[in-house]
Amino acid sequence: MPSNLIQVLPAQLVSQIAAGEVVERPASVIKELLENSLDAGATRIEVELEEGGLRLMRVRDNGFGVAKEQLPFALARHATSKISDVSDLDGIATLGFRGEALPSIAAVSRLQMTSRTHAANETAWVVSGDGGDVLDTPRPAAHAPGTSVEVRDLFYAVPARRKFLKTERTELRHIEQLFRRIALCSASVDMRLLHNGKELLRLPAEAQGGSGEQRVADLCGQGFMSHALPLEHSAAGMLLQGWIAQPSFSRSQPDLQYFYVNGRMVRDKLVHSALRRAYADVLHNHRYPAFVLFLTIDPRQVDVNAHPTKHEVRFRESRLVYDFLYHAVHRVIADERPADAGAQHAVRLEMPDNTGRVQPRLAGAFGGYIQPSQQPLGLRVAERHTDFSKATWATGVDAQPSPQHDSASTAHHHAHPQQDSESDTPALGFALGQLHGIYILAQNQQGLVLVDMHAAHERILFERLKQAQSRGVVQSQPLLVPVIVAVSEAEAGLAEEHAEALSGLGLQIDRSGPQSLLVRGLPVLLNRKIDVEQLLRDVLADLSNDEAAAGAGLSEQLDAILGNMACKDAVKAHRLLTIDEMNALLRDMERTDRAGQCNHGRPTWVQLEMGALDRLFMRGQ
Ligand code: ADP
Ligand code: MG
Repeated sequence: MPSNLIQVLPAQLVSQIAAGEVVERPASVIKELLENSLDAGATRIEVELEEGGLRLMRVRDNGFGVAKEQLPFALARHATSKISDVSDLDGIATLGFRGEALPSIAAVSRLQMTSRTHAANETAWVVSGDGGDVLDTPRPAAHAPGTSVEVRDLFYAVPARRKFLKTERTELRHIEQLFRRIALCSASVDMRLLHNGKELLRLPAEAQGGSGEQRVADLCGQGFMSHALPLEHSAAGMLLQGWIAQPSFSRSQPDLQYFYVNGRMVRDKLVHSALRRAYADVLHNHRYPAFVLFLTIDPRQVDVNAHPTKHEVRFRESRLVYDFLYHAVHRVIADERPADAGAQHAVRLEMPDNTGRVQPRLAGAFGGYIQPSQQPLGLRVAERHTDFSKATWATGVDAQPSPQHDSASTAHHHAHPQQDSESDTPALGFALGQLHGIYILAQNQQGLVLVDMHAAHERILFERLKQAQSRGVVQSQPLLVPVIVAVSEAEAGLAEEHAEALSGLGLQIDRSGPQSLLVRGLPVLLNRKIDVEQLLRDVLADLSNDEAAAGAGLSEQLDAILGNMACKDAVKAHRLLTIDEMNALLRDMERTDRAGQCNHGRPTWVQLEMGALDRLFMRGQ
C-alpha cells in the first residue's frame, strides 16, 4: 500500500532489489561465475546444471582460490580483490571489479562458496551467502585447490522474478549461448558443460600460443570455418584479430557475431555499425555477417564501467576505433572480391557456341543475356506466352491507361496486377530481356514494366508455401541424399521439440545424435538446389528467436521460416533467365496475391508509362 511513511529498507530487501540489475536469469549467474573463475586464472572450469539451472548451477575451477579469512568477504557487497582505488577504474584488466556479483546472487538464491588456495598445508573452507551485511563464518570442507560456487533455487525468495523465467529449455539455451561466448575467447582453458548429469559440451584446452582456431571450429562449426577469412590488423595501438565470414555465409539473424574487447565479450552499437558498414556493399540489408573478432586495446582507452552487466563499453576515442574496425574488416572483404566477381562475369558474358568457341551472345531488345542451359525455375512454364507480336510499342502508345493503373508517371504498384480487360496483353506484358541480371524488362499496354526478379520470385514462392500450409500440410519430398548437419545440443533439442510443426511446413527433420540433425525432406515447392545446411541454420535461428516467441508465438516463427525458405529458394540476382522463364515469372506474378511487394516489403515491380517516357525524351513538345 502506498503511504507517506518513509522507511529505511532492510538490507536483505536492498540486496534483492540491487540483484535485479545483475541477475536477470540463470545465464547471468553463469556469466558472473565464469568470469570470476577466469579472473582467478583457472585453466579448467566445469559447469554443472540441473533443470536448466533453475534448480542448481555449480561452477568449479582450479584457479588461485580464496583463503579462509577472506572467504566471507567474497560474499559481502562491494568487496573485491580486483581494484582498490579510483585510479584503478581507469585501466581495468579483469572481467569483474564491482564486487557485487556474488552478494547479488546470494540475495536471490541459496549460495555456497567452497574454496582452497594452492598454498601448502591449506585446507578447504565453505561459506553460505545471505546477500546481506552479515558475514558467515567459514566451516571446513573438502575441495581440491580452486573454487566451487553452488547456486540453488534461483529466485526462490523473489516470486516476482521467478514468474519471468522461461521454460527450463529456454533458460538452458541461454546458458549454453553464454557458455559458448565465453569459451570462444578462452581457448587455453579446458571447459565442460553438464546438464542433469549429461555432458553437453567438452572443449579441450588449446596449447599455449595456439591460434584459437580449434576452439572457434568447435563452437562455430565447420561451415563457418570453411567460409572464414582470417584477419589480423594493427594500427594506432590497437590490434584486431579473428575471423570474418565471406558474405555468402551470411545469416538471417545476428546469431554468429562474436566480438571481444580485451577478452570481454561485448555487444556494442559502435562495433556493430562499423562492421555493418564494412559489409554494406556485399550484403543484403536484412542479412547479417558472421564474425569472431578480438580487439586488443590499451585498457585506459576503454571504459567497461558503462553498464552493470558490462555488455556495452565506451571507447574514449570512438571515431578512431570505428574507423580502425571498418578499415580492418573492409580491407579483407575487398581483397576477396575481384576473383569472385571475375568468375561470375565470365560465365555471364561468354558461353560456348556449337563450334566450341567461346562467344558472347545477346538476346532481347534490351541486350539481356540468355543462357539456354539452365536449371528450371520451377515456374509454371506450361502456360507461357511466347507471342510477342501482340505487344508492340505502337499498341502501347495508343492504349488507354487501364483503370487500376493511374497515369502518374512512375508509380509503385502494390496491388495485384490484373489482366487488362481491353486486350489480351497480360497486365505485366511480355518480357523483352534482363537488365544486369537483376531486372526483367517487359512491355505492356502502358509502356515499360521493370521487375525485380529475385523479389518477385520470392513473393510467389512465399505465397505458395503459405497457401499450401493453410490448406493443411505442405507436401514434402524426400531428399535423395539426406543431409546431416552438426548443431548444438540445444538446437537439436529445439528442432526435436518442433518436429511436428516443421513437418507441417514440409521440413522433415530428425534428430540423429546428441549434436546432429538429419534433414530428410524438403517442401516439394522448393528447388532441389537449395543449400540445405544454411536453410536449416536459418530455421533454427527463427525458432530460437525469443522476440517472435514472446509475441505471436509459433505461428509467427513458422511464417518467418516460410519467408526464409522462399528467400533462399528464389532465383538469385545474376541468374540468367530465358525469355520463356521471364514470361512465366510475369504470369505467376499476375496470379499471386500481394505480388506487388516482396516478403520484405520492397516493391517487386514498377511501371514506366509511355507518357512519362515521351516527356523524358520531350516527344511531341
Ligand atoms: P568482482 O568479481 O567484481 O570482484 P564478485 O562478487 O564477483 O566481485 O567476487 C568477489 C570477490 O570474490 C572477487 O573479487 C574475488 O576476490 C573473489 N572470488 C570470486 N570468485 C572467485 C573464484 N572463482 N576464485 C577466486 N576468487 C574468487
Ligand atoms: Mg565477479
